[in-house]
Amino acid sequence: DRVDNPYVGAKVYVNPDWSARAAAESGGSRIANQPTGVWMDRIAAINGTTGARGLAAHLDEAVRQAAGQPLVFQVVIYNLPGRDCAALASNGELGPTELNRYKTEYIDPIAAILGRSAYANLRIVTVIEIDSLPNLVTNVSPRPTATPQCDTMKANGNYVNGVGYALAKLGAVPNVYNYIDAGHHGWIGWDDNFNASVQLMCQAASASGASPGNVQGFIANTANYSALKETFFTANTVVGGRPLREVAGGWVDWNRYVDELGFAQAFRQQADSQCFDSNIGMLIDTSRNGWGGSARPTQASTSTDPITFMNESRIDRRIHLGNWCNQSGAGLGERPKAAPEPGIDAYVWIKPPGESDGSSTAIDNDEGKGFDRMCDPTYTGNPRNNNNMSGALGNAPLSGHWFSSQFQELMRNAYPPL
Ligand code: BGC
Repeated sequence: DRVDNPYVGAKVYVNPDWSARAAAESGGSRIANQPTGVWMDRIAAINGTTGARGLAAHLDEAVRQAAGQPLVFQVVIYNLPGRDCAALASNGELGPTELNRYKTEYIDPIAAILGRSAYANLRIVTVIEIDSLPNLVTNVSPRPTATPQCDTMKANGNYVNGVGYALAKLGAVPNVYNYIDAGHHGWIGWDDNFNASVQLMCQAASASGASPGNVQGFIANTANYSALKETFFTANTVVGGRPLREVAGGWVDWNRYVDELGFAQAFRQQADSQCFDSNIGMLIDTSRNGWGGSARPTQASTSTDPITFMNESRIDRRIHLGNWCNQSGAGLGERPKAAPEPGIDAYVWIKPPGESDGSSTAIDNDEGKGFDRMCDPTYTGNPRNNNNMSGALGNAPLSGHWFSSQFQELMRNAYPPL
């Protein structure tokens, strides 16, 4: 039987492949024993690729690490047809119409491995399809942020049906806990996007044989950089006579939330009020949202100009909230932790620190990955980041590949500090 929160009273699996890369970095041994997500980012990952063992080998090692005690194994399901429809850096191997291959060559074999009796005592957390459903809310026509690829994936139903199939198939394994990706506050936190996202998740959770009971919760901020807590203001803080959220063109800019904790707790309630069970819980990825170092504000600004106030007070030091690729100045966030706040099942490091979000120039590869200029530090932006500079670090390798200088900066700017 499933427990309410799989993280309570359990250790979490340390991926030896990531751990070895972290430990090989100067100073890396300080975090090399932290648990990080295991990404099944293509069909070949199931059996293992160069430098990354396969799923069964991970699970065998998880059984060993568990040593008879409860242990959470975190695996990311990330291979939808037409993957990453609003960006290019993590485009995948399956074309927009290849739902059948997703089912038979990807989800079915994963479900078969997870269902082996040898793994029945593990608590297997699946993180389902990062950035997929939220893209169908925000990056589709007639919005100015629409892309043709997201329009296609909305029209053909393959994200919704793929997520539904994954939930049903993986959820049939009694010790699997499914968490669907819910974007982050700087994406889904606006009123136009918030309930529409919950509704779309209800739709996916009823597609392809799934039911909402197959969902144990949602994850916020996977592979993103949004701050966990903005300590010095809320959306309703009044500066210069108006609540910050109502200041057009400001950092908050009508968003209902200013940080991931507030967003995740509200999202949980909204999901519960729609189709999902009341015992759902949230995960927050804190792997790279620490924003420590010398640029971190230590007090609220004293400015009475709301724009200046927000820019001087905010923990999140990005140029724009819509920036997502290898953000310059970022640091490791809260270390993974069970049940840190009401409604939050855990802080987790699903995006393994040191793994790139995308290459800063075009690089040939056989992983289906494209070149997204949001990863190019000289890029001046697009409608999805309101035409701001990308804020990305230079010299970055392909998404998922080891990015030593980013790893070093993340450690330097860790908050809490290492
Ligand atoms: C990449 C994946 C990788 C993951 C974790 C994603 O951006 O597309 O290939 O496994 O990040 O680093």
